[in-house]
Amino acid sequence: MIDDRRTLLKWLITGAGIAALDAVAGPSTKIAHTKTFNVVVVGGGFAGATFARTLKRLMPNTAITLIEEYPEYFSGPLSAEYLVGKRSEETLTFDYTKLISEGINVVHERALTIDSAKRVVETEQSTYRYDRCIVAAGISFDFEYIKGYSKALADVFPHAWKGKEQLSNLKNQLDEMPNGGTVLMSSPNTEYRCPPGPYERVSQIAEYLKAHKPNSKIIFLDSKERFPKQAQFELAWKQLYGYGTAKSIITWIGAQQGGTVTELRADTRELVCQAGIFKGDVINIIPRQKADLFTDANGLTGDNGWCPVNTQTFESLKIPNVHVIGDAADAHSLPKSAFAATCQARVCALAVYSLFNKLPPMTPEYMNVCFSLCATHYAISVTVSYRQNPQTNKIDVISTNITPLDAPKTQYISEVQSAYAMFNSMVIGAFG
Ligand SMILES: Cc1cc2nc3c(=O)[nH]c(=O)nc-3n(C[C@H](O)[C@H](O)[C@H](O)COP(=O)(O)OP(=O)(O)OC[C@H]3O[C@@H](n4cnc5c(N)ncnc54)[C@H](O)[C@@H]3O)c2cc1C
Repeated sequence: MIDDRRTLLKWLITGAGIAALDAVAGPSTKIAHTKTFNVVVVGGGFAGATFARTLKRLMPNTAITLIEEYPEYFSGPLSAEYLVGKRSEETLTFDYTKLISEGINVVHERALTIDSAKRVVETEQSTYRYDRCIVAAGISFDFEYIKGYSKALADVFPHAWKGKEQLSNLKNQLDEMPNGGTVLMSSPNTEYRCPPGPYERVSQIAEYLKAHKPNSKIIFLDSKERFPKQAQFELAWKQLYGYGTAKSIITWIGAQQGGTVTELRADTRELVCQAGIFKGDVINIIPRQKADLFTDANGLTGDNGWCPVNTQTFESLKIPNVHVIGDAADAHSLPKSAFAATCQARVCALAVYSLFNKLPPMTPEYMNVCFSLCATHYAISVTVSYRQNPQTNKIDVISTNITPLDAPKTQYISEVQSAYAMFNSMVIGAFG
């Protein structure tokens, strides 16, 4: 049994397709139960959907209810291509038909409260009883730390970091911007969803401007001194967008150069930072982030705004029998990415399986693979493997593999195809 679970764990962290589970989780792994367990999952994004499908494969008799507010899910990964008109909305939109066909009870309601004494999750319409509750409700934003910015103003100056409406809004603004216009971007220095995402977005916008509005430019005012895959991104920008020359489409101003934005002047469309006052035709502010509002309202978040968990099982350190997975979890040093979220979901499914079956917990390993599309035929990547450290409850980095700076041109091209393949496999694992 234990050996089966070890093999299973290895398969799960690499994100092997869900069908592969049947091969590895053979008859000896599936235990026949007299009791039917109830599991409630809050949030049907990459983490929640992957968890529900994985546990259903491991324990078909478990009654799983997935509470997801919306009938359709819109993907963050590859959304930069949608933003610049290279990808249709349909290719990023997924529903829950497959989950329902597999026997998962999907209800489109907003979860409001967890009553941990009664072990129920309440929505406006109903009450759902659980033996284990899995919360995978994503992120929320902190707008007010930039003077003059607010939730209401996010309609005018979109973050485009969550939800289809925000992305469509930014896309329309880019479409309507005249040739010769300036795009301003800013991003936070605290933990946020998809650490290299802003730099992929800059790259995609630069490619769009080069092709469609060649007199335009993009200025990135950054609150960070350094950013992920910086050397690789800067090399790509030099090769593709004249970065570092007077004609560069991209200007990056980091925190050390005074790029931290402190104020938005909405009426004059200006961002203020130490490096100066910058006027933008399109202004994209990616605000500071924290765990979603549901976890916050239910006492699952810690002082840093994220949800402390036991990194072996993802059980909350605040409320027993409740697990938090995905971006909302404080799972240092895993990044907040869809890949890591699906990896956590699988590890958590195996942990819940072990708990239900009274099996000893395992020391999980994790993985994150992150591709960044710098242009239509140019992508870079980083692959990191991790192991849970039972002493510190941290998730330690074991090895890192990044696109080398002297990679042949063919590698940048093939990494684009790998990025699409990885996206497809994450989507198949989560939504079928
Ligand atoms: C621009 C951009 C690019 C990205 N690119 C990549 C990439 O290339 N690779 C990668 O791995 N990651 C990428 N990411 C990150 C990835 O999108 C997130 O890490 C991932 O979506 C996290 O999954 P999650 O399930 O935790 O949260 P989410 O995907 O946000 O899902 C949360 C779900 O919970 C639901 N929900 C929230 N509250 C409630 C409630 N009270 N009741 C019911 N339902 C609720 C929401 O409707 C939502 O469907 C990118 C993100 C962005 C913004």
